[in-house]
Amino acid sequence: MQSELSPEAMLAALAWQVELGADEAIRDAPVNRYEEEAPAAKSGPKREPGPEPAAERSARTVGAPAFAGAPGNDPVAEARAAAASARSLDELAEAMAAYEQCELKQGAKSFVFCDGNPKARVMIVGEAPGREEDQQGKPFVGRAGQLLDRMFAAIGLSRASPDAEHALYITNILPWRPPQNRDPSADELAMMTPFIERHIELADPEIVVSMGRFSLGVLTGLSGITRVRGKWTQAAGRPCLPMLHPAYLLRTPAAKREAWADLLELQARLAGKP
Ligand code: URA
Repeated sequence: MQSELSPEAMLAALAWQVELGADEAIRDAPVNRYEEEAPAAKSGPKREPGPEPAAERSARTVGAPAFAGAPGNDPVAEARAAAASARSLDELAEAMAAYEQCELKQGAKSFVFCDGNPKARVMIVGEAPGREEDQQGKPFVGRAGQLLDRMFAAIGLSRASPDAEHALYITNILPWRPPQNRDPSADELAMMTPFIERHIELADPEIVVSMGRFSLGVLTGLSGITRVRGKWTQAAGRPCLPMLHPAYLLRTPAAKREAWADLLELQARLAGKP
């Protein structure tokens, strides 16, 4: 795969490796740095602006909560019906944009649906737009998104690729920015779950990558991102690789080693290696 990389992708791969601390080219075979012992976990600094909460905080399971709303006004049932009626990604985007039950819509500037190539083998599902994403109407375009681009470029994948083999398709659980990048509430996640499930069905990727703990919870029902990252699971009936959120990696550079391991795992799976 390496030889098929464009010069830009090779530069990005190099930059990513330097960022990981691999600043000496001394061997042909790569050193398996992620098998080195991880430094003891410490409680990180306060969360920077960005939608991803600290992964080291104990993750609560994100499941469908009970709604106290009036009978006949069930936001999840309404979302399920709207999502099921969409027969294409365009129709799904329309149905989501027209959905009025999620209050985040009132405070957001943009409806952020997707970016990249819908034919990609790999679909990335993040949490929610942040400030930059809300400004530009595209997912993962702020600092975390730029890191995400560098990470995937290092294994030859890009949202800009017209070729499905090397492409990425990117979305979030929530299409609207939560105010001040606060954590999404359980109700917000539950009402948007039917939409992301339908989104995955319609895009039909071979592999889903869930980014961060909220995406993990919604797509797989699992919690404990630092424990389950890098372990294959299922989302919407297909293989899913949970990864640490790039916003977390920005705050916790030591965790880039795990992210690199996960990228290599993804690359091997795409290449058909067991
Ligand atoms: N974090 C996310 O989860 N999604 C974005 O689009 C940006 C930051």
